[in-house]
Amino acid sequence: MTTTATLGISGLTPDQLTAWVEGQGQPPYRARQIADAVWKDGGVIDAATIRVLPGSLREALARDFRLDTVADTEIRLADAGATEKALHRLDDGALIESVLMHYPARGASRERHTLCISSQAGCAVGCPFCATGELGAGRDLEVAEIVDQARHAQRRLAVGGSHLTNVVFMGMGEPLLNLDRVLAAIEALNDPRRFGLGARHITVSTSGVVPGIRRLTALGPQFTLAISIHAARDALRDVLVPLNRRWPVAEVVAAARDHARATGRRITYEVTMIGGVNDTELDALAMADLLRGDHAHVNLIPMNPVAHTPWQASPMAVIERFATTLRDAGISTTIRRNRGQEVGAACGQLAAERAGEMPAPAVARRRKRLEEESAAALRGERSHEPIPVGVGE
Ligand code: SAH
Ligand code: SF4
Repeated sequence: MTTTATLGISGLTPDQLTAWVEGQGQPPYRARQIADAVWKDGGVIDAATIRVLPGSLREALARDFRLDTVADTEIRLADAGATEKALHRLDDGALIESVLMHYPARGASRERHTLCISSQAGCAVGCPFCATGELGAGRDLEVAEIVDQARHAQRRLAVGGSHLTNVVFMGMGEPLLNLDRVLAAIEALNDPRRFGLGARHITVSTSGVVPGIRRLTALGPQFTLAISIHAARDALRDVLVPLNRRWPVAEVVAAARDHARATGRRITYEVTMIGGVNDTELDALAMADLLRGDHAHVNLIPMNPVAHTPWQASPMAVIERFATTLRDAGISTTIRRNRGQEVGAACGQLAAERAGEMPAPAVARRRKRLEEESAAALRGERSHEPIPVGVGE
């Protein structure tokens, strides 16, 4: 299901925009003028303000396109202003979030402004520790709805003379299950004539959609790939990332290796550390065996609290031991704290407060099932539940 409103202008390729301009009986250079207005410093949100265009063309633009698809946005600050959570209400009422994180210059590295963006309003994968997974399958975002999150952030940054330096697809949704639109959005973000962000500064995070990873690699540029691995053993990963029943972890890692080979880029593996579930020495050793010798980096992230799960973050001492096991195997590893927890804006755990209260018996049943499944997984038994609906193609 997608929105039926008029198209967002930032979703058009340069060729499509030129074709539209010609269809209006206007010379092609007008397309360049429109593109400048749409993309420069995050662009304008009202066609009437593009003064270089004749009035009739401004009116036609306003009639045929939305200049901004995330116009209805509310911003909340956290971490003393270093984190900005934006809540975007889309035209059909769907709510999505993006998170802008500011990192000051340190030593030789320049200041960075990283935006975490959403690709779907909800997620069909249903990882049990994830707030977006709680919402279930939502709709796929349009190309413009994805890109306009970045334009919105860039407009805010432009006020202080700054620029967005990185975009990560770690907000709501599984980007590679909205594949065509996400790939088109990535191209728009990367295109020097449009958003103009270097490929290395665009990170796609996936729970392991193997054909999607291969399509991303085939695009050519050096996009950064992050794999939400969470567990190296299939029995446990089946529970934590239900998509694992469709594409087991070894296939995911093989596709990631091919991406590293083709692009020369190091793969980032994300592990949400869940106390007593995926943080055991057995799991650290399994991960070390799986990734040993790879061009890879592992990020260990303490789980953010999410309603309706029986789980907590692993204690820091346990995370440090896990990191040591990986480092002893020669795997570069860092421990990362999530930003924006006080406004529920940690990347990958958005939308929690809107999921609504589940009835108490349902919560109790769900917790019990998760406890049983994860206990079985610790014993090494694979789950035999069917693949979740909508992710089995
Ligand atoms: N669907 C994609 C991208 C969005 S999730 C994916 O899964 O990779 C972005 C990241 O946030 C993932 O690594 C995800 O596992 C992580 N995440 C989700 N819920 C979390 C939580 N409660 N605490 C910490 N990290 C979480
Ligand atoms: Fe979807 Fe990623 Fe959340 Fe899993 S962690 S439910 S794939 S958004």
